[in-house]
Amino acid sequence: MAARLIVLGRQGAGKGTQCARLADRLGIRHVSTGDLFRHEITAGTTLGRAIERYVANGELVPDAVVLDVVSANLGGADARREGYLLDGFPRTLAQGQALFEVLGADAADLALEIDVPVEVVVDRLSHRKVCVDCDASATDADPLARCVECGGRLQRRSDDHPEAIARRLSLYDEQAGALLLWLDSQGLLVTVDGVGDPDDVHDRVIDAVATRIPEVRTRIR
Ligand code: ADP
Repeated sequence: MAARLIVLGRQGAGKGTQCARLADRLGIRHVSTGDLFRHEITAGTTLGRAIERYVANGELVPDAVVLDVVSANLGGADARREGYLLDGFPRTLAQGQALFEVLGADAADLALEIDVPVEVVVDRLSHRKVCVDCDASATDADPLARCVECGGRLQRRSDDHPEAIARRLSLYDEQAGALLLWLDSQGLLVTVDGVGDPDDVHDRVIDAVATRIPEVRTRIR
Protein backbone atom coordinates (compact mmCIF):
# COMPACT_ATOMS: atom_id res chain seq x y z
CA MET A 1 0.00 0.00 0.00
CA ALA A 2 1.52 3.35 -1.05
CA ALA A 3 1.75 6.37 1.27
CA ARG A 4 -1.25 8.58 1.96
CA LEU A 5 -0.12 11.95 3.23
CA ILE A 6 -1.66 15.21 4.38
CA VAL A 7 0.48 18.34 4.10
CA LEU A 8 -0.44 21.50 6.03
CA GLY A 9 1.10 24.91 6.46
CA ARG A 10 0.41 28.61 6.22
CA GLN A 11 -0.14 30.22 2.84
CA GLY A 12 3.32 30.88 1.41
CA ALA A 13 4.98 28.18 3.53
CA GLY A 14 6.15 26.47 0.33
CA LYS A 15 3.52 23.75 0.52
CA GLY A 16 2.78 23.65 -3.22
CA THR A 17 6.46 23.42 -4.17
CA GLN A 18 7.31 20.81 -1.54
CA CYS A 19 4.17 18.77 -2.28
CA ALA A 20 4.92 18.58 -6.01
CA ARG A 21 8.50 17.38 -5.33
CA LEU A 22 7.47 14.93 -2.62
CA ALA A 23 4.63 13.40 -4.65
CA ASP A 24 6.97 13.04 -7.62
CA ARG A 25 9.68 11.37 -5.56
CA LEU A 26 7.26 8.97 -3.92
CA GLY A 27 5.36 8.29 -7.15
CA ILE A 28 2.01 9.20 -5.60
CA ARG A 29 -0.78 11.47 -6.78
CA HIS A 30 -0.66 15.16 -5.77
CA VAL A 31 -4.16 16.42 -5.01
CA SER A 32 -4.30 20.18 -4.39
CA THR A 33 -7.80 21.49 -3.71
CA GLY A 34 -6.62 25.03 -4.52
CA ASP A 35 -5.30 23.92 -7.95
CA LEU A 36 -8.49 21.92 -8.61
CA PHE A 37 -10.61 24.97 -7.75
CA ARG A 38 -8.49 27.35 -9.88
CA HIS A 39 -8.81 25.03 -12.89
CA GLU A 40 -12.60 24.88 -12.47
CA ILE A 41 -12.71 28.70 -12.28
CA THR A 42 -10.51 29.15 -15.36
CA ALA A 43 -12.59 26.62 -17.30
CA GLY A 44 -15.77 28.47 -16.29
CA THR A 45 -17.58 25.31 -15.13
CA THR A 46 -20.72 25.41 -12.95
CA LEU A 47 -18.55 24.52 -9.96
CA GLY A 48 -16.01 27.18 -10.92
CA ARG A 49 -18.68 29.89 -11.11
CA ALA A 50 -20.12 28.79 -7.74
CA ILE A 51 -16.80 29.06 -5.90
CA GLU A 52 -14.96 31.93 -7.60
CA ARG A 53 -16.13 34.59 -5.18
CA TYR A 54 -14.91 32.61 -2.15
CA VAL A 55 -11.48 32.05 -3.69
CA ALA A 56 -11.03 35.66 -4.91
CA ASN A 57 -11.87 37.00 -1.44
CA GLY A 58 -9.68 34.51 0.42
CA GLU A 59 -12.71 32.85 2.07
CA LEU A 60 -13.03 29.10 2.55
CA VAL A 61 -15.14 27.20 0.02
CA PRO A 62 -18.03 25.49 1.92
CA ASP A 63 -17.11 22.09 3.37
CA ALA A 64 -19.80 20.19 1.42
CA VAL A 65 -18.38 21.41 -1.91
CA VAL A 66 -14.80 20.64 -0.88
CA LEU A 67 -15.74 17.14 0.27
CA ASP A 68 -17.53 16.41 -3.01
CA VAL A 69 -14.45 17.43 -4.98
CA VAL A 70 -12.08 15.40 -2.77
CA SER A 71 -14.37 12.33 -2.82
CA ALA A 72 -14.60 12.52 -6.62
CA ASN A 73 -10.80 12.44 -6.79
CA LEU A 74 -10.04 9.90 -4.05
CA GLY A 75 -13.19 7.87 -3.57
CA GLY A 76 -12.07 4.85 -5.63
CA ALA A 77 -10.17 1.89 -4.16
CA ASP A 78 -7.40 2.51 -6.75
CA ALA A 79 -6.68 5.98 -5.35
CA ARG A 80 -6.11 4.57 -1.89
CA ARG A 81 -3.98 1.68 -3.12
CA GLU A 82 -1.83 3.95 -5.30
CA GLY A 83 -1.32 6.54 -2.54
CA TYR A 84 -1.83 10.29 -2.53
CA LEU A 85 -0.67 13.54 -1.07
CA LEU A 86 -3.38 15.97 0.05
CA ASP A 87 -2.28 19.61 -0.31
CA GLY A 88 -4.65 22.24 1.12
CA PHE A 89 -7.14 19.71 2.43
CA PRO A 90 -8.17 19.22 5.18
CA ARG A 91 -7.88 22.75 6.53
CA THR A 92 -10.58 22.70 9.22
CA LEU A 93 -11.27 20.21 11.99
CA ALA A 94 -14.62 19.34 10.36
CA GLN A 95 -12.86 18.56 7.07
CA GLY A 96 -10.24 16.44 8.87
CA GLN A 97 -12.86 14.36 10.65
CA ALA A 98 -14.94 14.05 7.46
CA LEU A 99 -11.91 12.77 5.54
CA PHE A 100 -11.60 9.80 7.91
CA GLU A 101 -15.37 9.23 7.97
CA VAL A 102 -15.59 9.13 4.17
CA LEU A 103 -12.36 7.27 3.33
CA GLY A 104 -11.94 5.19 6.49
CA ALA A 105 -9.38 4.91 9.28
CA ASP A 106 -6.49 4.48 6.81
CA ALA A 107 -7.26 7.74 4.96
CA ALA A 108 -3.82 9.10 5.98
CA ASP A 109 -0.58 7.64 7.36
CA LEU A 110 0.94 10.97 8.28
CA ALA A 111 0.12 14.69 8.50
CA LEU A 112 3.12 16.90 7.81
CA GLU A 113 3.04 20.53 8.92
CA ILE A 114 5.50 22.85 7.15
CA ASP A 115 6.08 25.55 9.73
CA VAL A 116 7.02 29.09 8.63
CA PRO A 117 6.41 32.18 10.81
CA VAL A 118 3.73 34.61 9.68
CA GLU A 119 6.10 37.54 8.98
CA VAL A 120 8.15 35.37 6.60
CA VAL A 121 5.12 34.16 4.63
CA VAL A 122 3.67 37.68 4.31
CA ASP A 123 6.93 38.77 2.69
CA ARG A 124 6.99 35.72 0.38
CA LEU A 125 3.34 36.14 -0.67
CA SER A 126 3.85 39.83 -1.42
CA HIS A 127 6.52 38.88 -4.00
CA ARG A 128 5.04 35.64 -5.34
CA LYS A 129 4.18 34.92 -8.94
CA VAL A 130 2.88 31.64 -10.34
CA CYS A 131 3.21 30.01 -13.74
CA VAL A 132 0.00 30.18 -15.79
CA ASP A 133 0.79 26.76 -17.32
CA CYS A 134 2.13 24.53 -14.51
CA ASP A 135 1.29 26.45 -11.27
CA ALA A 136 4.96 26.50 -10.15
CA SER A 137 5.81 29.41 -7.83
CA ALA A 138 8.43 32.08 -8.50
CA THR A 139 9.28 35.54 -7.16
CA ASP A 140 8.62 38.82 -8.95
CA ALA A 141 12.26 39.98 -8.71
CA ASP A 142 12.70 39.89 -12.51
CA PRO A 143 9.60 41.25 -14.33
CA LEU A 144 10.53 39.46 -17.60
CA ALA A 145 11.34 36.09 -16.02
CA ARG A 146 9.65 32.91 -17.28
CA CYS A 147 8.83 29.77 -15.30
CA VAL A 148 12.02 27.75 -14.56
CA GLU A 149 10.02 24.50 -14.74
CA CYS A 150 8.30 24.91 -18.13
CA GLY A 151 9.10 28.36 -19.57
CA GLY A 152 5.49 29.50 -19.07
CA ARG A 153 4.37 33.07 -18.36
CA LEU A 154 4.40 34.18 -14.71
CA GLN A 155 1.64 36.24 -13.15
CA ARG A 156 0.39 37.26 -9.70
CA ARG A 157 -2.27 34.95 -8.30
CA SER A 158 -5.60 36.77 -8.20
CA ASP A 159 -5.92 36.08 -4.44
CA ASP A 160 -2.38 37.32 -3.63
CA HIS A 161 -3.60 40.89 -3.02
CA PRO A 162 -3.16 42.37 0.49
CA GLU A 163 -6.78 41.98 1.69
CA ALA A 164 -7.07 38.33 0.58
CA ILE A 165 -3.60 37.49 1.94
CA ALA A 166 -4.56 38.91 5.35
CA ARG A 167 -7.91 37.09 5.30
CA ARG A 168 -6.39 33.72 4.28
CA LEU A 169 -3.70 33.94 6.95
CA SER A 170 -6.15 34.90 9.67
CA LEU A 171 -8.47 32.05 8.65
CA TYR A 172 -5.51 29.65 8.76
CA ASP A 173 -4.61 30.73 12.28
CA GLU A 174 -8.27 30.47 13.35
CA GLN A 175 -8.94 27.06 11.80
CA ALA A 176 -5.68 25.16 11.73
CA GLY A 177 -5.04 25.12 15.50
CA ALA A 178 -7.90 22.75 16.31
CA LEU A 179 -7.13 20.58 13.27
CA LEU A 180 -3.42 20.29 14.19
CA LEU A 181 -4.28 19.39 17.80
CA TRP A 182 -6.69 16.72 16.61
CA LEU A 183 -4.21 15.25 14.10
CA ASP A 184 -1.62 15.19 16.90
CA SER A 185 -4.06 13.39 19.21
CA GLN A 186 -4.45 10.76 16.45
CA GLY A 187 -0.66 10.27 16.45
CA LEU A 188 -0.40 11.55 12.87
CA LEU A 189 1.28 14.96 13.14
CA VAL A 190 4.92 15.75 12.36
CA THR A 191 6.17 19.36 12.10
CA VAL A 192 9.05 20.34 9.81
CA ASP A 193 10.84 23.71 9.80
CA GLY A 194 9.99 25.34 6.44
CA VAL A 195 12.41 28.29 6.67
CA GLY A 196 15.46 28.21 4.41
CA ASP A 197 16.51 26.91 1.02
CA PRO A 198 13.79 24.80 -0.67
CA ASP A 199 16.29 21.93 -1.23
CA ASP A 200 17.06 21.84 2.51
CA VAL A 201 13.35 21.91 3.37
CA HIS A 202 12.82 19.06 0.88
CA ASP A 203 15.52 16.99 2.65
CA ARG A 204 13.82 17.62 6.02
CA VAL A 205 10.45 16.63 4.56
CA ILE A 206 11.85 13.40 3.06
CA ASP A 207 13.59 12.54 6.37
CA ALA A 208 10.37 13.09 8.31
CA VAL A 209 8.31 10.93 5.97
CA ALA A 210 10.89 8.14 5.73
CA THR A 211 11.30 8.05 9.52
CA ARG A 212 7.58 7.68 10.07
CA ILE A 213 6.75 5.41 7.12
CA PRO A 214 9.59 2.86 6.70
CA GLU A 215 8.25 1.43 3.42
CA VAL A 216 8.61 4.91 1.90
CA ARG A 217 12.42 4.51 1.98
CA THR A 218 12.21 1.86 -0.70
CA ARG A 219 10.14 4.15 -2.94
CA ILE A 220 12.42 7.18 -2.82
CA ARG A 221 14.05 7.69 -6.19
P1 ADP B 1 -3.82 29.19 -0.09
O1 ADP B 1 -3.62 28.10 0.90
O2 ADP B 1 -2.59 30.00 -0.37
O3 ADP B 1 -5.01 30.06 0.17
P2 ADP B 1 -4.74 27.23 -2.05
O4 ADP B 1 -4.29 27.14 -3.47
O5 ADP B 1 -4.50 26.05 -1.18
O6 ADP B 1 -4.02 28.52 -1.52
O7 ADP B 1 -6.30 27.58 -1.98
C1 ADP B 1 -6.82 28.69 -2.69
C2 ADP B 1 -8.24 28.94 -2.24
O8 ADP B 1 -9.06 27.78 -2.55
C3 ADP B 1 -8.44 29.16 -0.75
O9 ADP B 1 -8.23 30.51 -0.36
C4 ADP B 1 -9.92 28.76 -0.59
O10 ADP B 1 -10.78 29.77 -1.10
C5 ADP B 1 -10.03 27.57 -1.54
N1 ADP B 1 -9.74 26.29 -0.86
C6 ADP B 1 -8.71 25.43 -1.16
N2 ADP B 1 -8.74 24.36 -0.36
C7 ADP B 1 -9.81 24.52 0.47
C8 ADP B 1 -10.35 23.77 1.54
N3 ADP B 1 -9.81 22.60 1.94
N4 ADP B 1 -11.45 24.26 2.18
C9 ADP B 1 -12.02 25.41 1.80
N5 ADP B 1 -11.55 26.19 0.81
C10 ADP B 1 -10.45 25.76 0.14
